[in-house]
Amino acid sequence: MPQCQNCGYKWKARQTLKAHIDYSQGTNCPDCQEEQYVSRFTKMLQGFILLGYIIITFLAWKVFELPTIPFFAIAVSTIVIGIFILIATTKLANKAESVW
Ligand SMILES: [Zn+2]
Repeated sequence: MPQCQNCGYKWKARQTLKAHIDYSQGTNCPDCQEEQYVSRFTKMLQGFILLGYIIITFLAWKVFELPTIPFFAIAVSTIVIGIFILIATTKLANKAESVW
C-alpha cells in the first residue's frame, strides 16, 4: 500500500484507486491534507499492466480461441488482478511527475 510522502500515513485501497483515477490533479492525503501524486514508477507500471492485459486477452481470443464465457472470465479476472497489483505497488510523490 502507498504511503504519504509528507506524513507517512498509509493510504487505503479506495484512496489509492481515487489517486489513480485523478492522477493528473493529485489527491489530498486523508491524514495531512497535503496533495499527493502517483509517482513516475507507478505510471510506468500502469502502462506495463495495461500492455499485459492486452496481450493476455488477445492470446485468449486469437490463439486459444476461447468460447465467450471463459474468455470474459479471463478478461475480467485479469482486470481485477491488474488493479490489485497496481494498488499494492503504488508509490506516491509530493509533486506531479511526468512519465517522460
Ligand atoms: Zn499525509
